[in-house]
Amino acid sequence: MSKIEIRNLVKMYGAHQALHGIDISIAPGEFCVLVGPSGCGKSTTLRMVAGLETISGGEVVIGDRVVNGLKPKDRGIAMVFQNYALYPSKTVYENMSFSLRLAKMPKPEIARRVNDVAQILELTPLLERKPGALSGGQRQRVAMGRAIVRDPEVFLFDEPLSNLDAKLRGQMRAEIKRLHQRLNNTIIYVTHDQVEAMTLADKIVIMKDGRIEQQGTPDEVFHDP
Ligand code: ADP
Ligand code: ADP
Repeated sequence: MSKIEIRNLVKMYGAHQALHGIDISIAPGEFCVLVGPSGCGKSTTLRMVAGLETISGGEVVIGDRVVNGLKPKDRGIAMVFQNYALYPSKTVYENMSFSLRLAKMPKPEIARRVNDVAQILELTPLLERKPGALSGGQRQRVAMGRAIVRDPEVFLFDEPLSNLDAKLRGQMRAEIKRLHQRLNNTIIYVTHDQVEAMTLADKIVIMKDGRIEQQGTPDEVFHDP
């Protein structure tokens, strides 16, 4: 498992400063949730860790490497988005195995991984279905499965549950928590939902206007005066 260090991170969009020097230290296996109102800089922070956004100042360290110049695929990360696009004409198995096939992993190893992850996520009976024949929650599990099969050191979640209804959101929260307890990957999870943050986080970082307002355990952050 990898630690993540975000050091004095700055983001300029032209003349607009979106991040004013953010510092976050995440221990190996820790579940860190970034919360705060829309526009406070959560996504920008996550996308800079992922390598999807250039870094205007500061450093991102994953494991023991500064990753500032590295491509997303070389950072040991996997990302789950709000708009998880599955391939509509491919089966669940093919959706989950796609990135491993691109990486030219041997087929028996691919089958082993996909079947293992399908079991964890209770997707085994659905492997031959196409996304159109799945519920929203099932599709979201496939999107997670697709990330998990790559066995990343670090998971990055950007509002992964915000398109689901309240009941499904609750179920998926429990699922993500269970998954983390089992796999123990290091996680950064972005949400504007305080309940989600409270339920999932080992560490909560509250952001406002491109700065960190407060960080600590859920107890420290939500119960201190
Ligand atoms: P959050 O994820 O907390 O809603 P964002 O990280 O998306 O916030 O945005 C932080 C700030 O950066 C906002 O003021 C937003 O308008 C601005 N911003 C985000 N993406 C871009 C972009 N591609 N170009 C210009 N400004 C952007
Ligand atoms: P190809 O057309 O290149 O053989 P496929 O998608 O048909 O690719 O299958 C890739 C490999 O994964 C094959 O070895 C196939 O037997 C295996 N496979 C396909 N579906 C499953 C499944 N549900 N469980 C286990 N292995 C599977």
